[in-house]
Amino acid sequence: MVNFQLMITAELENLTHLQPQNGCDDPDFSYFFKVKCGRCGEVSQKETCVTLGETVPIPNSRGTTNLHQKCKFCEREGTVTMVPGRGRPLTHEDSETGKYAPLMLFDCRGYEPVDFAFRGLWKAESVIGRNEI
Ligand SMILES: [Zn+2]
Repeated sequence: MVNFQLMITAELENLTHLQPQNGCDDPDFSYFFKVKCGRCGEVSQKETCVTLGETVPIPNSRGTTNLHQKCKFCEREGTVTMVPGRGRPLTHEDSETGKYAPLMLFDCRGYEPVDFAFRGLWKAESVIGRNEI
C-alpha cells in the first residue's frame, strides 16, 4: 500500500483558499486522474474519476474502495481508496511562497495516480473582502 497526496499550486492574484466548491472532502466532488499500472507501467488512456461518496466492494475482502479496476494490458487488479481529512485549501500565502497545498490523500494498491486533471467546480475567496467575514 502506498499513499499519494495530491498537491496543488496555482498563481492566486488577490485570491485565497482555492479548493473544490464544497471543500476537499466533499462526498460529491470527483477527482480525475490517470492511473499507471504498478506491474507493467501501462498508463490508462482516459482519466478515471474517484468520488468520496461512491464506493465499491473490494473482491475477496470486506472492505470498500473508491476505485477498483483491472489493467487492460496485464490484468493486474488495483484499488484507489480516498482518505478524507488530510487536505486543506491553497492559500494566497502558499501561492506567494510557491508552496503546494495537499488536497486529498489516496491509498493506492497496484496503481499509481498520474496526470491529475482540474475539473468540476472550484472556489476561491477574495483577499480583499476577507477581513469583513
Ligand atoms: Zn498492467
